[in-house]
Amino acid sequence: MTVPTFRFAPSPNGELHLGHAYSALLNARMAGEAGGWLLLRIEDIDTERCTPEYERGIRTDLAWLGIESEEPVRRQSEHFDDYGGALQRLIDEELVYPAFMSRGEARTWIADNGTGEPWPRDPDGAPLYPPRDRELSTGERRARMAAGEAFSWRLDMAAAAGYVAGRIDWRETGAGPDGETGLIQAKPEAWGDVVLARRDTPASYNLCVVVDDAIQGITDVVRGRDLFHATSVHRLLQELLGLPVPVYHHHDLVMGDDGRKLSKSRRDTALRSLRDAGATPDDIRRMVGL
Ligand code: GLU
Repeated sequence: MTVPTFRFAPSPNGELHLGHAYSALLNARMAGEAGGWLLLRIEDIDTERCTPEYERGIRTDLAWLGIESEEPVRRQSEHFDDYGGALQRLIDEELVYPAFMSRGEARTWIADNGTGEPWPRDPDGAPLYPPRDRELSTGERRARMAAGEAFSWRLDMAAAAGYVAGRIDWRETGAGPDGETGLIQAKPEAWGDVVLARRDTPASYNLCVVVDDAIQGITDVVRGRDLFHATSVHRLLQELLGLPVPVYHHHDLVMGDDGRKLSKSRRDTALRSLRDAGATPDDIRRMVGL
């Protein structure tokens, strides 16, 4: 029988705040109730912004909260080969293409070539990547890559949709922003041709998360509602790479007094500041309603 396996996957690019505490405590509770395990994953793929000090801070905060995770802890920066292997499969299947436009160039292209209609935006509000590079010939791509031009690998969403052919769903036991729950139909097209690898980061969050969840044998993904729509991309990648599909549970976000999502730059809700000010782990549980 598979042991229910949960994970908490923070990025060490800042201090944990009450929102992270809620997510970690909820994961620990759900793993306990399911008779399963909680694994820790350090999402430090962005080696520019992630630091060992922040990782140490995360470990201290979790230990203080009494959250125990099973060994080994997976640190993404130690597994670039796994992400590179997954990317190579998509390159071999011609499901990705080299995209040469910088953000500014894409904006200019859209301004010059738009139809006058508002240009489509993804669920996070960013404009979809223009179709220009997808339409380049193989010869042109090769020549520009050989000339050393910088590029990212982007998923060819139309090709990917054709490859999968058919509806993709996931089981949601939490809820999306509009209360979506139960069997959810994935809508990856809403994201356009997403980046899977950049020149400065060899793998994107979307690619790493599906590879890691599969390698760590994650059966239950419990995370913030802000990642609900990204799950559509994760489901598509799982289909393309033949990976197992966890159950998803997107939980409420902890909001600040100003009604906004907490951010790592805010000091007042950082666990370390609260601890230094005398809060106990029980106070934190109360503050996040657990
Ligand atoms: N590393 C992400 C974050 O800190 C979480 C990703 C996930 O749970 O899928 O927001």
